[in-house]
Amino acid sequence: MSRHCICGSLYDGVNLRGEYGCLVIDIRSGFIVDVREKPLGCSEKHTYSDENTIITPSFIDVHVHLRGLDLAYKEDEESGTKAAIVGGIGLVIDMPNTSPYINTVELVKRKLEVLAQKSYTDYSLYTGLPKTIEQLRKILLAGVAGLKLYPNDHYRVNEKVVKIVGEHGLTIIVHPELPEADKPIALSEECRQTHRSCMWEIASVELLADIAAEDGKVHITHATCFEVVERARNYGFTVDITPHHLFLDIGESYDRCLTKVNPPLRGKTEQIKLVKAILLDLVNAIASDHAPHSPREKSYSYLLCPPGIASIEVWPRLLWRLVVERIIGVDKLLKLCVQGPAGILGLDDLYGKLAPGYRGNVVVWEIGFERVDGLEYSKARYTPYWMSVVGGHVKAHYIGGILVYDEHAGFLAKPKTINPFERLKQHESQHRCCGNKT
Ligand SMILES: [Zn+2]
Repeated sequence: MSRHCICGSLYDGVNLRGEYGCLVIDIRSGFIVDVREKPLGCSEKHTYSDENTIITPSFIDVHVHLRGLDLAYKEDEESGTKAAIVGGIGLVIDMPNTSPYINTVELVKRKLEVLAQKSYTDYSLYTGLPKTIEQLRKILLAGVAGLKLYPNDHYRVNEKVVKIVGEHGLTIIVHPELPEADKPIALSEECRQTHRSCMWEIASVELLADIAAEDGKVHITHATCFEVVERARNYGFTVDITPHHLFLDIGESYDRCLTKVNPPLRGKTEQIKLVKAILLDLVNAIASDHAPHSPREKSYSYLLCPPGIASIEVWPRLLWRLVVERIIGVDKLLKLCVQGPAGILGLDDLYGKLAPGYRGNVVVWEIGFERVDGLEYSKARYTPYWMSVVGGHVKAHYIGGILVYDEHAGFLAKPKTINPFERLKQHESQHRCCGNKT
């Protein structure tokens, strides 16, 4: 029997709120088997008793671009997920718009195989919209987390597609803009902000509301304006916002490639209204849209440089600042970064609690004001958050109960990671099998 015990101030915002306890994790399965004050039968025991240290479930990021394949020079599955581990994230869902674009069974399998070999976090992948309904049906059984729709897909998608994805218990995850938003050639960040306004996000949500079947799960990633959040929720969709639309505004980004991003950063008023949306419980999750490019690409002139902000290594630390400044409580933080994302993915029985049966992905945080001093593991290396004030950092990170990262020792082990959508498939087939027999 091999069980690791992780002891300290446990906090999942559901059952546990700062109570001292020990998580007993079965190393063979990677899942929590017990939570108790004095654990028995530990083959290894790790205790964290510092005053400012708390232990939570690992964060989940439902929107990342790990690049890889032909774009591995920007980021790959290893560098991106190591950066995620240091950020406090234990499950990432990768986007399909790498090169080649992933929307066939063969490419989905190829990408999932690379993730299985290289990822330091649990993982899955969204498929891009395939050419035919038959292909879509096959891809949805290949271990993907759902279907990603880009602005160009809005005029191709219909009720049938929404229904099929819903029947598989998966999510349609939507970049809420229309292709027209991409057309104007903007000479400055200010022009881009005007051309690529929230109007396109609202139009996208309205278009989806017309076709979304009642049983379809639609997630908007990401809204940049309060009105988009509000409309999305009114239509029964879930919605996330990015750390950069929450912590940066156009005033800070004027013509700087470092903060060029799609949709563009908004004004101070919209930024503050996103905080209001969080306080009103309208936002289901924070998702990074981690979009790394090589430092060389980001050094091109403003018109030529690619949009995207690399933040997977740092964004949870920014969110902790809201807790340290007492704008939100730890419960709400964990709702936005753990339980909310787990619910969007339909994984709330595997992730989100420190309880028996849940995945043993656990972060040890040291909480308090500090500053960001650069990215160490993402190939992007640059960050608009350099020297920004944050609310803590990761002391240690466990995946499946294995200590993967320690702030002093660095990376200690390559964990046995899982694609939870493979696991769900297995559960389903077992269930079908046994139900038939009895
Ligand atoms: Zn994205």
